[in-house]
Amino acid sequence: MNEREHRLVIAIDGPSGAGKSTLAARLAKRLSYVQIDTGAMYRAVAFLMHSACVDPDDTIAVERFCEVVDVRLEDANGVQRVVANGQDVTSQIRTPEMSLLTSRVSALKPVREAMMRAQRAMGSAGGVVLEGRDIGTVVFPDADLKFFLSASLEERGRRRYAELIGKGEQVSLEETIAAVALRDEQDSKRDLAPLRQADDAIAIDSSGMCIEDVLEKMEGYIRQKRQDRKNRMKVILAKRAGFCFGVKRATQMAFEAAVMDKKTYTLGPIIHSPQVVNKLEEMGVRVIKDLETMESGTIIIRSHGVASEEITEAMEKNLEIIDATCPFVKKAQEHVKSLSEAGYGVVVVGDADHPEVQGIVSYGGDKVDVVGSGDEVKKLPKMNKIGIVAQTTQSFENLKNVVSECLLRGGEIRVFNTICDATAVRQEEAKELACQVDCMLVVGGYNSANTRRLSEVCAELQTRTHHIETAAEIDPVWFDGVERVGVTAGASTPKCIIDEVVSRIEEINKSH
Ligand code: SF4
Repeated sequence: MNEREHRLVIAIDGPSGAGKSTLAARLAKRLSYVQIDTGAMYRAVAFLMHSACVDPDDTIAVERFCEVVDVRLEDANGVQRVVANGQDVTSQIRTPEMSLLTSRVSALKPVREAMMRAQRAMGSAGGVVLEGRDIGTVVFPDADLKFFLSASLEERGRRRYAELIGKGEQVSLEETIAAVALRDEQDSKRDLAPLRQADDAIAIDSSGMCIEDVLEKMEGYIRQKRQDRKNRMKVILAKRAGFCFGVKRATQMAFEAAVMDKKTYTLGPIIHSPQVVNKLEEMGVRVIKDLETMESGTIIIRSHGVASEEITEAMEKNLEIIDATCPFVKKAQEHVKSLSEAGYGVVVVGDADHPEVQGIVSYGGDKVDVVGSGDEVKKLPKMNKIGIVAQTTQSFENLKNVVSECLLRGGEIRVFNTICDATAVRQEEAKELACQVDCMLVVGGYNSANTRRLSEVCAELQTRTHHIETAAEIDPVWFDGVERVGVTAGASTPKCIIDEVVSRIEEINKSH
């Protein structure tokens, strides 16, 4: 993992006078992070509203303005510039007039929401320090590190007093302390974004500490956080985990049909994913075993196809047919049909009990035999012309063995390699991954043959392999002592389920 992966989002909240801005700026500089000066962003909004004559009391005008406002912080040779709607406004936002307007504008909900979106976008890649009063609670509730900086009222009053006197203002210490106390009360009682310490924030009381001491303390926590990150388990997701082309296509067709207001059914489950099937059921697409009771409506043909007789029956009943048979499976069906019509004895290499094979076989009438291996060819009757077609998920090795045996039997032989490499590619990738990790999760339906096979090939290489259907099944104990965890998924596993699994592992990772 490189350093970039450990770039953190650091939130600093706290009451006024606690030294947040100074510390945020110094910390960002030391870490080479970007300081997101949220105050400057609100000032830029105030400036733009003022320039565009937007009245802060005109709710509709403010909302419209916020839909298009664009405030960014850009680096110009190491100096941060504030760019608002494409204009560099850095030098125009620090006037007393803008200070007054900013306090009004920053209390407006649409403005806060627009700025929050902008701040989150800026911080999404990490490497940022933000300070304010609701950064760790509202803007970045998932910040990697949250500090709540405070100091006694007297100390903050003294700091503020020194600042004002330094600017030549005539105030007394007592007045300044009273003003800070009033500000504390207002900040903690305001409706919008009140000052509050996040539950997981690290509280630092800087009373009696110099800036350097506080910085050192914060850096200690940052070093620890980075180390924790490095020690975390790495999650590696297989590149081709999840839907293959045919399953993706069938699922899309089914969901498109589901939104039409018609009676829609699938002949058998559309794919081997109970979650997808349940979702479709919720949308009104029901699974039926056969067409016997169906008199009208739409029937969707699953990705691994159905028997030709079922298509004929659907046509005779004038049902609307949505054929989601994978084009690779369709090709195998067509080859069997044309071979048998041309007088070949057809040999299908595959699992006779699999619905895809049963569908393919149906296109060849009674001239088709199914063999699971080369040895089974020996039991076949004599044929002068043999046509060979494979179940799409067969291994190339097995097809080769069957072809070799057929060659020994002589006669004319035609071979169609109808193997789809989606399964093989997933298996090869999973094997490679299983060798690199300490724990492997294989995600997919228990009724999905290709997921079960994926799990088997992984288990041969990695004893800590777990086949799961959903993230809810993950047991954190599986990851004890694990540094690298691999995740792969069968060809019928939807992306959202894979994402949930990865998120759950990350969640466990964080809590360890
Ligand atoms: S595994 Fe291949 S043949 Fe089967 S549905 Fe997917 S793409 Fe089609």
